[in-house]
Amino acid sequence: DSAAALVERLTTIVPDFPKPGVLFRDVTPVFADPIAFGRVCEALAAPFAVGAGFAAVAGIEARGFALAGGIAAQHQVGVLTVRKAGKLPGEVLSEQYALEYGEAELELRPGQLEPGTRVLVVDDVLATGGTAAATVTLLERAGYQAIGFAALLELDGLSGRERIEPRLPVTTLGRV
Ligand code: 5GP
Repeated sequence: DSAAALVERLTTIVPDFPKPGVLFRDVTPVFADPIAFGRVCEALAAPFAVGAGFAAVAGIEARGFALAGGIAAQHQVGVLTVRKAGKLPGEVLSEQYALEYGEAELELRPGQLEPGTRVLVVDDVLATGGTAAATVTLLERAGYQAIGFAALLELDGLSGRERIEPRLPVTTLGRV
């Protein structure tokens, strides 16, 4: 099966999570499946592995960490962890962004890679694009070059792709 077919088959829909009215897509069965996990990691990175490629993968907490680890191991590059506020020690860069209700904040430790390093950004789901946009800003503030964004799924009607594509290319394995 293709990576896209595996994502479609294994992803489940959880109504009213994390709050009433939200249809949450649970992609963790894709991670738990030994064939699907490796295959989706390959498919997410493939469009960005051509030409100059990437020298690191940035995973967004928490489900992005799993994908970043898989992709990084396949391509023999390292991982950057983009974390929710308050989790990283030492010097951090912080970026606040708006959620549907309220605010969120992501952080990155600068100085871990050479300036100009080409970084692929990964997460499980692209919704409004606020999380991805804040991550790209953090990477740029740290002096890196964000070369692409990859996610298992994009949610239709939330304009995440439209928000990110002016800044860098976007790949997803399905639109729901
Ligand atoms: P955005 O910032 O694009 O609006 O939201 C994307 C972030 O929220 C991602 O980090 C993603 O993990 C999470 N997210 C939003 N909706 C869903 C969903 O339906 N399923 C999953 N697994 N994550 C979601």
